[in-house]
Amino acid sequence: MGIDISSLPSPSYLVDERLLVRNLEVLNSVQERSGAKILLAQKGFSMHSMYPLVGKYLHGVTSSSLFEARLGYEKMGKEVHVYAPAYMDREFDEIMSYSDHIVFNSFDQWNRFKDRVQNAPKKISCGIRVNPEYSELEIPLYDPCYNFSRMGVTLPNFRPEELEGIDGLHFHTMCEQNSDTLERTLKVVEEKFGEYLHGMKWLNFGGGHHITRPDYDLDTLVRCIVYMKEKYDLEIYLEPGEAVALNTGYLVATVLDVMHNGMDIAILDTSAECHMPDVLAMPYRPGIIGAGEPGEHPYTYRLGGMTCLAGDVIGDYSFKEPLKYGDKLVFLDMAHYSMVKNHMFNGVNLPAIASYNEEEGIKVIREFQFEDFSGRLS
Ligand SMILES: *Cc1c(COP(=O)(O)O)cnc(C)c1O
Repeated sequence: MGIDISSLPSPSYLVDERLLVRNLEVLNSVQERSGAKILLAQKGFSMHSMYPLVGKYLHGVTSSSLFEARLGYEKMGKEVHVYAPAYMDREFDEIMSYSDHIVFNSFDQWNRFKDRVQNAPKKISCGIRVNPEYSELEIPLYDPCYNFSRMGVTLPNFRPEELEGIDGLHFHTMCEQNSDTLERTLKVVEEKFGEYLHGMKWLNFGGGHHITRPDYDLDTLVRCIVYMKEKYDLEIYLEPGEAVALNTGYLVATVLDVMHNGMDIAILDTSAECHMPDVLAMPYRPGIIGAGEPGEHPYTYRLGGMTCLAGDVIGDYSFKEPLKYGDKLVFLDMAHYSMVKNHMFNGVNLPAIASYNEEEGIKVIREFQFEDFSGRLS
């Protein structure tokens, strides 16, 4: 990682700005080659101390709630787009005050809020989320096109006669995928909704594009964007979350105890449940610097968290040396879907949030206290 972490509190999330800039440059190259506008999906990465940096490259944010919309508006101050499966009456005026684009999940939602949007003091561009019923995902938890999905309007439910005032369509059907999936998805979007695209101003391709992964095919992405842009005379938006922060950060943790019960076990000052919940939800096995698969190196341990949840286990890893109290472990790729999803189950404190750049070195931006725990309860 090339960073001296000895001064970092443990546990900490640490984002390396050099790596974030590298991702932002890749995303910007797509914008420059294709003319698309790329937004940060805050759902995946809301480390707002980085928003000024992100805003140098991207056109703004997309949001899934009032709070995300406000965060993007206040901390980045560029375009704010919002999509939610449904909007609350009492929140809608405030959402409008931050938003440039609002995407509705159904024609009933659009009709419910249409007058309020059209009478708003500023111009807000409205869209409908469509469900093309085509995805290449196997896990229902992450598949917006799964049976009985509530995400977006399917063709049989599409109401062309209610499109007046709608400027764009939005689809989001991908997760961690390459541009070949996008190309096949666009074919279906065109077959089903192409006739309506001619009257639109924009099309939003959603997120799930793994654009900053080393094997990602950028040429196909650019070709897809340019094709849709020119054929239908549209502004194209993409809103990746994960791709912005992919491989830009770490979770640094410390060994608190080592024990034996049929196998060697190490207990860490972090938690899968609280600090890396996708390890249990996806599920997946995060990489650790210097560690291998079980049995690959001489000393294999099951790494567990500090909550009382029996299944708070990160995985089995092997090391060249035995683990001992105080050893630091560095988990890889912990910037996205970690800070935004963590919580204080069991009263376990949150990791500190830190960044690194060459001029300033490590900056600890935020540490959490008892009041952060008690403040969200009563
Ligand atoms: C989750 C989500 C995104 C971002 O997805 P990533 O997989 O992080 O790129 C974008 N748009 C919508 C509507 C989403 O729900």
